[in-house]
Amino acid sequence: MKKEEFMRKAIELSIENIENGGGPFGAVIVKGGKIVATGVNRVTDSCDPTAHAEVCAIRAAAKKLGTFNLSGCEIYTSCEPCPMCLGAIYWARLDKMYYANTKTDAMNIGFDDSFIYDELELKLTERKLQSEQLLRNEALKAFEAWSNNNEKIEY
Ligand SMILES: [Zn+2]
Repeated sequence: MKKEEFMRKAIELSIENIENGGGPFGAVIVKGGKIVATGVNRVTDSCDPTAHAEVCAIRAAAKKLGTFNLSGCEIYTSCEPCPMCLGAIYWARLDKMYYANTKTDAMNIGFDDSFIYDELELKLTERKLQSEQLLRNEALKAFEAWSNNNEKIEY
């Protein structure tokens, strides 16, 4: 299959998902020229604010391949990802991302994630999300234990 065909699949999923009560987003993960997994937006019906198409596709692909490292795979997403999904794409070590709609296209139909991109530019203390640091010395014990653990699986 060609790049355009994989993207058409992601787009097809995004359109079908509207009829299934979800948001207009779909994603496909490809390895070695074959579709490994797909995902659609299931935020509302699964009551999961993190169930974006890209995250769902990454979870499905990782489970199917039995690995947390998806290097060697590429993601086709029907829309430029939000910061959460972009982060997930980096964490999954995907080789390449293809996207169709832009984040401006998404904003034009009411899915505006620009406020998150804007927040990322700000210092922690200047963000809309209130945050407060507590018990760092106690929390560091976990990091020390991790550093000293010779059995750990690094990722
Ligand atoms: Zn997202």
